Amino acid sequence: MALRGVVAMDGPSGTGKSTVSRRLAKACSAAYLDTGAMYRAATLAALRAGLTEDSPAAEIAAAAAGARMESGTDPATPTITLDGEDISAEIRGPGVTGFVSAVSAVPEVRTELVARQHALIRSAVEDGGGIVVEGRDIGTVVVPEAPLKVYLTASPEVRAARRGRQDAKAGRQSDLHVTLADVERRDRLDSSRRVSPLYAAADALVLDTDRLSADAVLDKLCALVAERGLDG
Ligand code: C5P
Repeated sequence: MALRGVVAMDGPSGTGKSTVSRRLAKACSAAYLDTGAMYRAATLAALRAGLTEDSPAAEIAAAAAGARMESGTDPATPTITLDGEDISAEIRGPGVTGFVSAVSAVPEVRTELVARQHALIRSAVEDGGGIVVEGRDIGTVVVPEAPLKVYLTASPEVRAARRGRQDAKAGRQSDLHVTLADVERRDRLDSSRRVSPLYAAADALVLDTDRLSADAVLDKLCALVAERGLDG
């Protein structure tokens, strides 16, 4: 099966978005874009410029605009670099995770990164290709015309437990209570920000993944791609 066009995958963290988005892209020989990694890279650029949550928004925006980041779109090996350095591991650490919601709430940061996302998406879909794009505002702001939009949800407890397992797998220390507090804090910030807040597009298919395995979600998505005639 080969995907044509854009599948928009939104939802809060720990819903299994990355896992199923990558697997869907692989199954459909499509490209894959993790927009969260781009906001995390911009956050790392701001941290490296010595900025904090208390810094003026204009300085945070300037750090994001000046960030030389490259996002790989191969679902088999998603990569992200900053100034040529592979930062895939560093952007998952507590420093970036604690600051990213503040950085992504700055309107100029979003304008800059959405423009970069549009360029990557355009190049993936030209000549009839496809791309699975995951984030918080893909179906509402980045690609509102996407022919398939999915919004994944799950309870905060299940999401924190999933994040904890990911941390353990990546060799990062984490505590379930701290992870749960972080998940809830980011939900609050991401859903209440003024620009591009997190919510499900009116025409998104909402899937609660509390009791759905990644395999079951993937089966549903592949069926939807076929049903909507997106398999070129
Ligand atoms: O998906 P991930 O958890 O890596 O995203 C990190 C943060 O980036 C989110 O908590 C959110 O603040 C921001 N983000 C966003 N818009 C997107 C993707 C991520 O604001 N499209």
